[in-house]
Amino acid sequence: KGQLVCVGPGMILGAHITERCRNYIQRADVVYVSCHHAVEEWLATLNPDTISLQNLYAEGKHRRETYNQMHQTIMQSVREGKKVVGCFYGHPGVFAQVPHWVINTAREEGYKAHMEPGISAEDCLYADMGIDPGRFGCQHFEASQLLFYRRTLDPSAYLILWQIALAGDRSIAKRVSSVEERQQLVDILLNDYPADHKVAVYECPFIMVEKPRIEWFPLSELSTYELNPVSTLVIPPATKMQPR
Ligand code: SAM
Repeated sequence: KGQLVCVGPGMILGAHITERCRNYIQRADVVYVSCHHAVEEWLATLNPDTISLQNLYAEGKHRRETYNQMHQTIMQSVREGKKVVGCFYGHPGVFAQVPHWVINTAREEGYKAHMEPGISAEDCLYADMGIDPGRFGCQHFEASQLLFYRRTLDPSAYLILWQIALAGDRSIAKRVSSVEERQQLVDILLNDYPADHKVAVYECPFIMVEKPRIEWFPLSELSTYELNPVSTLVIPPATKMQPR
């Protein structure tokens, strides 16, 4: 009978993978991967039956359609009775919809399915930037959620915004959003933070010899600051915690 495990290789090529993830990959009948190209090549050396899902992404294609196709592809192999591994970069369950979705579907259809944790961008961020989320607290949001929904921010805690380069993109088909879309996010943040509040763009390396990108700049420059699809925005506390 088919079964499914979603695993994550961590962020750094070859260096972050857990023993459990490696074992599942090596013992699988088929491994579907959605990682960076170099990581995918390395995973193929662990199991030759490795198939990339990256070609399902395309500029201008709605991401929902890409996710549907990933879900379909993985479920088809499970239904064929295979031991299937889905490998998604970082931690498979962190800001990633398909792994949670496909595990739920597999379970609903009576297959064994579970997730193995991996080292996420969040884990690297705490280490590289010397942030303890327990010190002042730490809120995490997908950047566009702040634009499209009412969320309550606590400026006495850290605020981490994921997919910041896509903030405000309603088409769900682009790689980076426009200056105007990003400015709308800045305007919302200005309700809780001063314009000169220092924020940081964070990018952890994908290979061991690279250094993390950590650049500080004023919040007011966010709409034009150079951001990449892998950028995460770090906003430190702007106010002190208020005693009761
Ligand atoms: N599952 C991934 C993980 O465990 O980190 C996250 C995938 S999510 C779809 C993509 C977002 O994760 C990016 O927009 C960015 O916010 C963050 N991210 C991905 N790679 C990163 C990197 N190298 N450095 C910092 N943040 C990264």
